[in-house]
Amino acid sequence: MAVALPAQVTVFERGWLSSNNVLLTSGRETVLVDTGYCTHAAQTEALVRDALAGRMLDRIINTHLHSDHCGGNAQLQTAYPEVRISIAQSQLDDVRAWNADALTFEATGQQCPRFVAHDAVRPGDVVEMGELAWSVVGGAGHDPHELLLFEPQHRILISADALWQHGYGVVFPELEGEPGFADVAATLDRIEGLAPRVVIPGHGAAFIDVEEALARARHRLVQQRDDPRSHAWHALKVLLKFKLLEQRRIERTSLLEWATAMPYARALGTRHFSQEPLKALMLRAVGSLLKSGAARQLDDWIEDAG
Ligand SMILES: [Zn+2]
Repeated sequence: MAVALPAQVTVFERGWLSSNNVLLTSGRETVLVDTGYCTHAAQTEALVRDALAGRMLDRIINTHLHSDHCGGNAQLQTAYPEVRISIAQSQLDDVRAWNADALTFEATGQQCPRFVAHDAVRPGDVVEMGELAWSVVGGAGHDPHELLLFEPQHRILISADALWQHGYGVVFPELEGEPGFADVAATLDRIEGLAPRVVIPGHGAAFIDVEEALARARHRLVQQRDDPRSHAWHALKVLLKFKLLEQRRIERTSLLEWATAMPYARALGTRHFSQEPLKALMLRAVGSLLKSGAARQLDDWIEDAG
């Protein structure tokens, strides 16, 4: 059953390659939260244009700058030249200089066309979207710069990748040996303190069983904290699966070449699987995706599946 939301809040539920997008259509400004992955940008633009029914898109706010959340920014900026793009204060300089390394696009081997950011939002700010006042809440853990948006009147939380109905996103800092699990815990506590009635996650349908979702997330966090290697293994498969979602099918040798050159994969290989040659590790991860049904092999090709 679809979760009831105020009429001015429209959720485009996408998939795993593109994040969900939330469009707020009434009031002073029309605002879009997150724009999906670049290969889906035409679809994102069509969804937005259709829902706006002739109005302009005035503002984009990105919860964070992973390529699946801001990959449509550039196309929307071309379609709506007046649109104002707001991102986390802590990444404004990196976007202005387009430091693709600091922005993780190189580290993950993913793509994101360059866009122009106009201003910043920070935890503690209140932004008006759809005639509602949304608090900007720090959501570090999955990404140190992540921001969540909470509307206290209807108790709606836009949770990005900090909380999904079944889990949360890979804790990227941990892949490089930086602490991240404590931030995940703090963010989950913060979400619990907000007591949202509805959560609109970055991926998957909006949900109302928030207490259960928090319990599931905390259970996962304990497992990952106790066994960081299992988290690294999971992350490796997530990064490979993302590539398959992006490419649909890719030659096995190309996939392995890409994977063994990906900085995050190299970092987590060195850190957590130093006994195993990187190529063997990647082969094992691809094998695991094939075994679980997340991918299938046809001759020399690996295809996305499931
Ligand atoms: Zn993310």
